Amino acid sequence: MAKRKSMSSKMAQRKKPAPKLETTFSCPFCNHPDSVACTIDLKLLVATAVCYICEEAYHTTAHHLTEPVDIYHDWIDACEKANQGIELQAWDYHKRQRQVGSDHDDSDTSI
Ligand SMILES: [Zn+2]
Repeated sequence: MAKRKSMSSKMAQRKKPAPKLETTFSCPFCNHPDSVACTIDLKLLVATAVCYICEEAYHTTAHHLTEPVDIYHDWIDACEKANQGIELQAWDYHKRQRQVGSDHDDSDTSI
């Protein structure tokens, strides 16, 4: 029966601050949590996300509805696309290597 004494009940009634939009995110490069800060310049219509740990940065276009989380998701998308591109290139290279290797195979079919 651990009922709290009511000394602090007034304190608990303090209004919470309005929920702030998230502006810091974990970095897709160094995976450090909350190390990416997003800034939006509505004059230049440029949005920037920068990691203060590894100093990786991503720039994209912004408009008046752009939110930090949008920039971050754009960055993640760009990273994933880049990764896929690297994998595809590697796969292509691998295939080409095999084709070249299997070209001279049937030269000694005489008895
Ligand atoms: Zn980082």
